[in-house]
Amino acid sequence: MAKEAAHGIAGHYVRDQPENDWHKVTIEEGSGGTLRWSNVAGRSWSLEFLNNGDELRSTKDCPYGEQKLEIQRDGAGKLVSLRFNNEVYRREEKHGWEYGHEEHWPFLGDPKVQSPVEVPKKGGKSPLPGSYSKMNVANVENNGHTFQVNYKDAGGEVDAGQQTYKLVQFHFHSPSEHTQTGYAGWTDEQGKQYPGHYAMEVHFVHTNGTFKGDPQTAARRQDLAVVGVFIREGAHNPELEAIWKESPDQEGKDTSLAFDGINASKLMPANSNYQTYQGSLTTPPLSSGVNWFVMDEPIEASPQQIEKFRSVMKRNTNRSIRGRLSSGAQR
Ligand SMILES: [Zn+2]
Repeated sequence: MAKEAAHGIAGHYVRDQPENDWHKVTIEEGSGGTLRWSNVAGRSWSLEFLNNGDELRSTKDCPYGEQKLEIQRDGAGKLVSLRFNNEVYRREEKHGWEYGHEEHWPFLGDPKVQSPVEVPKKGGKSPLPGSYSKMNVANVENNGHTFQVNYKDAGGEVDAGQQTYKLVQFHFHSPSEHTQTGYAGWTDEQGKQYPGHYAMEVHFVHTNGTFKGDPQTAARRQDLAVVGVFIREGAHNPELEAIWKESPDQEGKDTSLAFDGINASKLMPANSNYQTYQGSLTTPPLSSGVNWFVMDEPIEASPQQIEKFRSVMKRNTNRSIRGRLSSGAQR
């Protein structure tokens, strides 16, 4: 791959008008002198070079037929953008956004309808209108912000309004993003206290039938439902252990899980009371239109398991609280 590496093609690219799941593509070095090209939904194609590396061609199964990608460079020869299917893709900065710098996050949501919020501890509804089963997992990735477990097929579903939403992935935050009224809180490894926060929170991300790929785009069409479960320090959690064992320590890596399926219900609390409200994504672009379900009761993980996640992420991975949900209320 000396030729491709020299041309600096590998990386993440974003399109200016992100209205479908092809707004973001990744080009990476494959095996045997090829480049692999994929979108956020994980669909991928191989590429070959034309014209000494300034044009690329997808070689098979491209959704638009055989396509040429033109590589555009500045005067110094530095790659500026890719043109594909009459759309221009620009290289995305590593991360694009960082925890600890919320003031710089790109924002596309409704400022009045934002997550996370403080939720009441009691008075929720029950049971959760969802069901989960053991389903095949595609991979677990470390995207620099979290460990994310992606399902091959829907791993369960939840109903919100008139619609059914299918579970496509789940991921983690530490400390928890939502807070709970009256909860004493959690203390981190440095002794810092987080009143109302649990040590962690897992988010089960569901999409409805019109979902095509990128959850961040989907939320703008009100296609998402997220179930949040608090995790407190306590007993060792065997389900979590199976995931942690496969979670890459390095950002940008993913691995196939060594076990054939995972049952999301094993990461749900026994008590199925929940609070529900209309909110947003908690990561950029912070889109509104997310149906939130926050479970009242936490599950547990050992201090060592919590520390494992935190030491890989190296920083807090929660957005600051945006408001408070009053008892029994919905917004
Ligand atoms: Zn999340």
